[in-house]
Amino acid sequence: MADGFLKKDDLNRLRASVAAKGGRFVAPVTVARQTVFKETAPSDEVALGYILARNSYKEFLFPQTEAIAEFSIHRQGVELRGKDADARDTVIFGARPCEAASLASLRAVFTWGFIDESYTKREDKTVVITVACTSGDDACFCTTVGLSPESAAGSDVMFHETDADGWLVYAVTEKGRAFIEAHADAWSAAAPEDAVARTLFMPPVIAGVDIKKIGERLKKKDHYDEPLWAELTRKCIGCGACTYVCPTCHCFDITDEGAAFEGERRKNWDSCQYDSFTLHASGHNPRDAQWKRWRNRFMCKFNFYPEKFGSKGCVGCGRCVRVCPVRLDITEVMEEMSKRP
Ligand code: SF4
Ligand code: SF4
Repeated sequence: MADGFLKKDDLNRLRASVAAKGGRFVAPVTVARQTVFKETAPSDEVALGYILARNSYKEFLFPQTEAIAEFSIHRQGVELRGKDADARDTVIFGARPCEAASLASLRAVFTWGFIDESYTKREDKTVVITVACTSGDDACFCTTVGLSPESAAGSDVMFHETDADGWLVYAVTEKGRAFIEAHADAWSAAAPEDAVARTLFMPPVIAGVDIKKIGERLKKKDHYDEPLWAELTRKCIGCGACTYVCPTCHCFDITDEGAAFEGERRKNWDSCQYDSFTLHASGHNPRDAQWKRWRNRFMCKFNFYPEKFGSKGCVGCGRCVRVCPVRLDITEVMEEMSKRP
């Protein structure tokens, strides 16, 4: 049974209620004909008829760039002052189940040995409201990686669309239940009788893709220099777009920026698709060709994440397929890899 019902017309009441308590409301908004997650202003209209926002909402937990310390250099030495993360109460509205499932992978990386508090503090203060998918496109493949539009992993609250011009609201976590109670004025406790959940969009499982077999194959080292990698990824131009939109990609670099004697230490998104990513100071680069960089990304998704963290490196959102300027489709590589002994 649902824990509440929210009329679409009352979404702004929920936004106002979140704002009144000092929180920010991140939601899909249409900007220049693209639907993107952004922190909404009262004048923004939340997009409702989208398949998946073009960007991942990871940037509200793991910003594209952030100062993690300030430094100044004096005659007496170097002074380094740490900066606390700007962790605010945040509501992510309109996540999709695939993307919500990626949070376990981000958390695993950012708590792997060292606790990266700039991530964990933000995630702890975030409530993820996922809207189950009633539409999709050819790039969606969550079911092929073991998820579905009904998956609740990573969500705090699930919304299911109905024909009664509103959503059935379900608490998934205790955090989600507390959120529903804290904003009780925004929704009705009971759903109208005609509020029946709409049929969900189930992308077909891609025939011939065997995730287990891919994982087993990648564990062995003999695939490493196979010509197949270069053949399959020849058209990649190394732009890095796939990594920036991917909800589980997490690589970053640390740079010191500022003047000679003072400045900031910044954490910036980086991409394993750039040739400078693994370039050593000596000039040696262990991934000195684009196909090696692409192989690394694929291994990260289907070998490193599952082996090291037991989590999904790819949640089948299809974002990388949609944004790639040369249409290098990761599912085609998955199919080819599944065929090999
Ligand atoms: S690899 Fe592509 S399909 Fe998989 S989670 Fe990342 S962006 Fe989505
Ligand atoms: S988006 Fe496409 S071209 Fe760009 S790095 Fe990724 S696979 Fe290569």
